[in-house]
Amino acid sequence: AKAVPGTSLQFPPEGFERGSGQVLDAEQGLRAGVSKDEFVLFYQPKVDAANGALLGFEALVRWDRPGLGRIAPSDFIPAAERTGLIGPLGRLILAQACQQIARWRAEHGEAFPVAVNVSPLQLIDTQFPQLVADTLAQHRVPPALLTLEITESAAVTHLEQARDQIRQMRELGVRVALDDFGTGFSSLNLLRSLPVSTVKIDRSLIEPLPAPDAAAVIKAICQLAAVLQLDVVAEGVETDAQAQAARHAGCQVLQGALYAPPLTVDDAGAWLARA
Ligand code: C2E
Ligand code: CA
Ligand code: CA
Ligand code: CA
Repeated sequence: AKAVPGTSLQFPPEGFERGSGQVLDAEQGLRAGVSKDEFVLFYQPKVDAANGALLGFEALVRWDRPGLGRIAPSDFIPAAERTGLIGPLGRLILAQACQQIARWRAEHGEAFPVAVNVSPLQLIDTQFPQLVADTLAQHRVPPALLTLEITESAAVTHLEQARDQIRQMRELGVRVALDDFGTGFSSLNLLRSLPVSTVKIDRSLIEPLPAPDAAAVIKAICQLAAVLQLDVVAEGVETDAQAQAARHAGCQVLQGALYAPPLTVDDAGAWLARA
C-alpha cells in the first residue's frame, strides 16, 4: 500500500483489491476532476426555530463535470472514499468553505458559520486536525465559524479515534456536529461519550412528524441534548407541521426544503444580504 499524500492514510486500504475497470475509471475521472477543481459547494441555510432568522449554512458538494452535468455527492463520494481521493477532495472542500466564510465575513461585517461534511476517512486521518488548523489560519477564519459534521456511523465504527480527533478539533475552537443522528443503534450513549457540540437529527426521524410517537422520540433526544449542553439541529424539514413539531420538541435550529434547498454561492449571498 502507498501513503496518500498529506494524510496518514494508505491506499489501497488494507484488504482492498484493485483491478476492477470500473474502480479505475472512477479513479481517473475523479483524479482529473480534483486536479481541475471541478467541485463546487452549495450552501443550505440553517434557521433559528424560534424566529426563522438565518444562523448559517451547510456546505454540500457537487461535481460539475464538463459534458456530464452536475453530479450529486452520493454518486462520487463513495468512489472517492474507495480510491483514497477523498483526502485531496476533502482538502479542496475545506479550503473552499473557509475561503467563503472569510469572503462573507468581509462583505457583510457579520459572521455566518458554515458546516462542512467530513468523511469517515478524514475523521480517522491523524493529520486532519492539523489540516483544519492550517486551513483556518490560511484564510484567517475564526475557528468558531466552522462546524465539522461527522456521521454517527463513522463515530461508532472508529469510536476511540473519533473521540480523540473530535477532542483535538474542539481544542482548536471548531464546532463538531454528530450528523445523521438516530440512524444508528448506540445513539444515546454515543452522545454522552463524544465531545461534540451539536446533534443533527436525521431526516428519517423528522419526516414522520407531527406524528406523536415521532415527536416523543425527538423530544427525548432534545432533553438528553439539553442535559449534555448540546445544540440540536433538525434536518430535512419540508413542511410547516414538521417545523412546528420539531420546534415544540426542542430543536433550536431547522434546515430543509421548507426554508431553502442547497443554494448557489450567489443565492446564499442574497440570503445573507437580507439577514
Ligand atoms: P447529509 O449531510 O445528511 O446532507 C443532507 C442531504 O439532504 C443533502 O443532500 C441535502 O441536499 C438534502 N436535503 C436538504 N434538505 C432536504 C429536505 O428538506 N428534503 C430532502 N428530501 N432532502 C433534503 P446532498 O446534497 O445530495 O448530500 C447527500 C450526502 O452527501 C450528505 O448527506 C453527505 O453525507 C454527503 N456530502 C455532501 N457534501 C459533502 C462533502 O462536502 N463532503 C463529504 N464527505 N460528504 C458530503
Ligand atoms: Ca451533513
Ligand atoms: Ca445530515
Ligand atoms: Ca441525513
